Amino acid sequence: MPSGGAEGRAEVIATLSRLAHEQVVSSTTRDLLDAAEPLCDRLPADSDDAALIRVTRRDVDRARKLPADFVAERARAASQSIQVWREARPRNDFATFRPYLERMVEFARRTADYLGYTEHPYDALLDGYEPEMTSREVAALFAQLRDGTVPLLRAVVARASAVDAGVLRQEYAEEPVRRFALAIVRAFGYDLDRGRLDTSAHPFSTGFNRNDVRITTRYGRQSLGALFGAFHEAGHAMYSQGSAPSLERTPLAGGASNGIHESQSRLWENLVGRSRAFWQHAFPALQQHFPTQLRATDAEAFYRAVNRVEPSLIRVEADEVTYNLHIILRFELEQGLVAGAIAPQNLPEIWNAKMTEYLGVTPPADTDGVMQDIHWSGGLIGYFPSYTIGNVVSVQFFEAARRAHPDLVDRIRRGEFATLLGWLREHVHTHGRKFFPRDLLERATGTPLTPVPYLDYLRAKYHEIYGIQSRAG
Ligand code: ZN
Repeated sequence: MPSGGAEGRAEVIATLSRLAHEQVVSSTTRDLLDAAEPLCDRLPADSDDAALIRVTRRDVDRARKLPADFVAERARAASQSIQVWREARPRNDFATFRPYLERMVEFARRTADYLGYTEHPYDALLDGYEPEMTSREVAALFAQLRDGTVPLLRAVVARASAVDAGVLRQEYAEEPVRRFALAIVRAFGYDLDRGRLDTSAHPFSTGFNRNDVRITTRYGRQSLGALFGAFHEAGHAMYSQGSAPSLERTPLAGGASNGIHESQSRLWENLVGRSRAFWQHAFPALQQHFPTQLRATDAEAFYRAVNRVEPSLIRVEADEVTYNLHIILRFELEQGLVAGAIAPQNLPEIWNAKMTEYLGVTPPADTDGVMQDIHWSGGLIGYFPSYTIGNVVSVQFFEAARRAHPDLVDRIRRGEFATLLGWLREHVHTHGRKFFPRDLLERATGTPLTPVPYLDYLRAKYHEIYGIQSRAG
């Protein structure tokens, strides 16, 4: 969209947000729900109809707490603020962005007040992205992750020279990268008759219905990052494509939560796309696309290169070990902002101090510091924990699929992804929004949310790559 269109679009989005909101909270919807709810007792709890009533009631109850004018005003302000952020970020101009950020924080606080909460205003916001989850649970999960990750990161950094990623820092022409990425996501099971791959400044996926789910990636001159962007977005898209046809055009279409969605993208990006088995299969084909660049490299060296760990400034470029530290930092700042304990004007300073403390790197400019993400500019506060929940859940799902199919990794090594996708289809995708994330996870894996498999996975993988001796006992 041309930048001149931003204001017009802000008005359009405000109007559409108001109309959608009015429909959800209308007396027609309420009467239909009231009439349907008594039937619920006679339906199996996991039937589509029972879920439809349950989920719609939750959506309506949440929406009814927000006045339509407020929803429209918030949407308009978000569009304007995003536009200001877009222009201010490359200029490292936090001062211009600040009043817009302050406004979005204020909207978030008012949203929490309208929605209500018992313990922390953040709970009200989090619930919009991770239904039925509280910041207390998130804080406990994150503390375990931080305690498990920090010593691992320290050990890895001490042996940084064990992994050479020089092979990735060469010219990789866009077209062969695109062709390879397309071949791989198709092999994963992303249906290109119901999707497509395009280019954008930041990778994303977007869907209009289960038969039209599109993805993008971005190409760097000296990078194969486009591959992992495509794997990630294909993971999101396959989730949407796999939602049951019976749920189409109902409130049950879509994903159980942002975290469950992210579990799908991270699973394909990391547990498959950064695995040794996958590159044993895929490296020869990539080598054929880039015979000069990859002449002196083999699958094992390439696997190690794409898993190089390095504390860095930018979340979206972070490796598996450091990624969650970026999220924990944002979660802590968001809680402070919403509770009023942190003033937006102090954010750059606090951001930089926390980056230094957690990751050992200090942003030289706000462009690559507090202004790097789009989320806050659009008022998406409470969203970031979903990324880390997705990482944690991705391993829980993968391990459950492996319990069902003990030869799963061998199949990946043979380039056979249908078994994994089939398991995800049956246990995750087909259910759309039918179950709360907690229930979906328990049904699929038999266990509640736990960071233990994820930390075990990180330690096993990176101890091996970096030659770190595991201490027993
Ligand atoms: Zn994602």
